[in-house]
Amino acid sequence: MARRETPAAGPGSRALVVDVIRSARSISRVELAEVTGLTQPSISNIVRVLIDDGVIHETGSADSTRGKPRILLSINPYSRFGMGFHLGAETLTCVAVDLTGGVVGREVVPLATGENGGDLAGRLVARFADFTDGLDLPVNRIEGLAIVAPTARPGFESAGPDLAAVRAELADRLRMPVLVENDAAAAALGEFWSRRVSREQAFGSVYLSTGIGAGLVFSGALFRGASFDAGELGHLSIRYDGRPCPCGNQGCVERYASMAAVVEDARQDPELAGRLTLDGSVSSAYDVIARAAVSGDPQAFALIDRAATHLAVAVASMVNLLDLGRLVLTGPAVASAGSIYARRLRSHLARTAHARNRHPIAVELSAQPRDAASIGAAALMVQAAIAPGHTTSAH
Ligand SMILES: [Zn+2]
Repeated sequence: MARRETPAAGPGSRALVVDVIRSARSISRVELAEVTGLTQPSISNIVRVLIDDGVIHETGSADSTRGKPRILLSINPYSRFGMGFHLGAETLTCVAVDLTGGVVGREVVPLATGENGGDLAGRLVARFADFTDGLDLPVNRIEGLAIVAPTARPGFESAGPDLAAVRAELADRLRMPVLVENDAAAAALGEFWSRRVSREQAFGSVYLSTGIGAGLVFSGALFRGASFDAGELGHLSIRYDGRPCPCGNQGCVERYASMAAVVEDARQDPELAGRLTLDGSVSSAYDVIARAAVSGDPQAFALIDRAATHLAVAVASMVNLLDLGRLVLTGPAVASAGSIYARRLRSHLARTAHARNRHPIAVELSAQPRDAASIGAAALMVQAAIAPGHTTSAH
């Protein structure tokens, strides 16, 4: 392996050191210098400041082959916290995470229809106070709040609340940093952070919900694109003459593999629709189909397996385009039927991924798929606070 040049300690060095400690779980100063390429004196200085700031702490020693025990360093989880709010169609999910991305508080409250408009900022400020009081989190140890919502479709930007204005008002009233992020991107960063993925890995996540999005993390940073619109996996076409999509294209994978597409297909199958109760919202109807599929209903299984097969074709294109090494499946659709999607993706990638003989392409399932977007939002604030330089917001 080529030896990398020793970089000078610069503004990004602190973020690099934090990121290496986070992904290693615990590591000595000597190993830190080896992994980062920074000099021992630079490492000593950065580590001293990080310990003084409470970001990391010494956690005992490891035996060394050279006889002298080495003190290990790890992230000090409870010194600071990040907050994430996920604005769903009917609910608001509030999450607080520690510095390792571990969830320390979670609450879901109804968000009545029409509440997205009006004084949304005022309601969110009240919710924030209520939530942090309930958790007994000192406000001076909260690094900020990130709000996540689905990405608006082209031509539909004005349909939802003006989140840029809400963000500005919240930052002003809460007197802390406030970010707005899309659900798929936030979920990717949350999985990257809490799974301790190394910044060397080309990491992606697929967020399966009423739509489909992807989040991409390269060198420890979310990939944004020219206008913070990267990751629109749902609008990758898998059939040039396929189903028309509101985005203007045809054959978008979202029209075949999203929760909405699965429910639409199921409702058009008289036998299945007659047997399962598919009225109600898209997410509740989808959950009925998904539960039937994993409980051995062959028709329901075939429907979700077909959606997974369509998704696999799009994901293989994304993996090939970006040479991804690790992928996490997350989002509400994964909560009930994740194993069906994961099996299809793994077998399809094993047969078709261009880099399959050079490196494995791991496909994993999120541990908290329903909350992934809010956990990711909170993790964004943690990353912005302790490994700055990676995080900018769309608003
Ligand atoms: Zn589309």
